[in-house]
Amino acid sequence: PSGGMRSTFEARGYTVWDPSSPAFIMRVGDGKTLCIPTIFVTYDGRAQDFKLPLLRSQTFLESAAVPVCQMFDPKVTKVTATLGWEQEYFVIDEALFNARPDLVLSGRTLLGRAATKNQQLEDHYFGSIPERVYLFMRDLETESHKLGIPVRTRHNEVAPGQYEVAPIFEEVNVAVDHNQLLMDVMERVARRHKLRVLFHEKPFAGINGSGKHNNWSLGANTGVNLLSPGNTPSRNLRFLTFFVNTIMSVYKHADILRASIAHAGNDHRLGANEAPPAIISVFIGEALTKLLGQIANGKKTDDAAVQRAIDLISKLPNLELDNTDRNRTSPFAFTGNKFEIRAVGSSQNCAGPMTVMNTMMGLQLTEFKNDVDKLLAKGAEKEEAILMVLKSYIRKLKPILFEGNNYSEEWREEAAQRGLANHTNTPEALEILRSKQAEDFFGKSGVLNKSELEAFLLVQLHAYCTKMDIEAQTLNELVNSSIMPAIIRYQTDLAHNIAALQAIGMGDAGAYQKAKLQRIVTNAAAIKDGLEKLLEGLEKAHAESDLHQEAYLFCNAVKPEMEHIREAVDSLEGIVDDEYWPLVKYREMLFIR
Ligand code: ADP
Ligand code: MG
Repeated sequence: PSGGMRSTFEARGYTVWDPSSPAFIMRVGDGKTLCIPTIFVTYDGRAQDFKLPLLRSQTFLESAAVPVCQMFDPKVTKVTATLGWEQEYFVIDEALFNARPDLVLSGRTLLGRAATKNQQLEDHYFGSIPERVYLFMRDLETESHKLGIPVRTRHNEVAPGQYEVAPIFEEVNVAVDHNQLLMDVMERVARRHKLRVLFHEKPFAGINGSGKHNNWSLGANTGVNLLSPGNTPSRNLRFLTFFVNTIMSVYKHADILRASIAHAGNDHRLGANEAPPAIISVFIGEALTKLLGQIANGKKTDDAAVQRAIDLISKLPNLELDNTDRNRTSPFAFTGNKFEIRAVGSSQNCAGPMTVMNTMMGLQLTEFKNDVDKLLAKGAEKEEAILMVLKSYIRKLKPILFEGNNYSEEWREEAAQRGLANHTNTPEALEILRSKQAEDFFGKSGVLNKSELEAFLLVQLHAYCTKMDIEAQTLNELVNSSIMPAIIRYQTDLAHNIAALQAIGMGDAGAYQKAKLQRIVTNAAAIKDGLEKLLEGLEKAHAESDLHQEAYLFCNAVKPEMEHIREAVDSLEGIVDDEYWPLVKYREMLFIR
């Protein structure tokens, strides 16, 4: 999809090799293909992919970060963003996968009653890796290492059938390519083991979905991690500078960050149990919260107190800085020497959120440098100037900091009072990309010009509408051609049985059957009603010419009807003869290994 930047009659893309990401040879059978990471542009050089904006954001970030680093160490001439992703995924048996048209066509189960045992016992999370999956993982690791993907960890995740793989972090562009490549390799290797990998954010209702935590940091060519506190006051002032500026950038651009993780699959996950909420906030832990408090409250004239606070960082044990275990509910958490963006979806290309991270940090560091320079021009000492600016930022950014339970109802209310946005669906979250704010954000940094931004938004909306359409059509067909016929057959059985008992004078013996038939009839009526409204919604959406409005129709007129239908079907799944039920059940997909 070009977002209107190429017309079909001249549907040509132009490519430019990206030498900063290693080429590799993909072997399948006895075939070998040389693959070269490549940028995809239009005839006039406009971005058609995620790679070019990401590379531009890197360049921009570097140009802003190097002068700030040089305030502390003139030897720094290069700064790169680093990314370490954590890829969550489900694995199910291939035959069971193939028996679910919804999984095959839409990547998630559109119907399906929760199994009586789910993740309540956490026995999967804390158990050993099932042997068949283990063999798949070993094979995957070997294939990944052959391609240069530095995969390092394997483990079970919370939901039954859910796992995670994570590599050693790399320079962000290479890490993004490696994640894309890994997802492809995972699918191939799984098939060798007669398994299927599911990357959808919510393949199964009622149990945890999958995310892709993006651990982001900045490294200088002198070998230091700029988000790592050190044991000297000057290292700590540098740490504090990058730390506070990151938080400030999230505070200012939370909406754009939210837009970068908005897509149909993630809508099922964000805000659901065990997934970060759609409200963007930052978690930094008790020790750093206290420290920021001390700095912010320090009297203007008393910078010695602030200096003392900075000295203090070097005395904090590392454990206190890395208190990630205490809050798993935050979408954006400081974890000792990096920030972890937890709201990214498991099926997503990390390049989107990483481009936004780099861009917002670049803009923020530029502003920071200007603010410091202004004070220097007035005759302030360098360290004093840096501290004064940081202090003023800390006072402003308070509303974005949150240490409590991000799942709670109170947080939703408090966040609203603090003025933090809560965009719970994709069309709403994408609104910001139509604003002047977004145009400036991407324009000033040189990451996307106006027409590229417009095209990007169109592509996102188009993907959303198309996915929702496929899901709705699949559901409609599945219910009409499989579910309802099974229900009708079972209804007939029950009716015959009731009539037969009555005929021999044993009508009372049909009480259980009658009650059941009544429940079936009620739910079948709800399904009929839901299907009618679903088709009405689809018709409206198809007739809408404005893409954004179409997305809203899918979200507000189609999606709720899909949920109503599902509710009725899932409750029938629990009472209709198992022999008749046409779909593989959750208990089979999640527990047969
Ligand atoms: P957790 O499950 O607690 O989030 P993991 O060990 O699964 O922790 O993941 C930590 C991730 O952080 C790994 O992917 C690792 O590569 C990444 N990481 C570590 N240091 C950095 C860094 N400086 N920059 C970017 N990513 C990093
Ligand atoms: Mg993590």
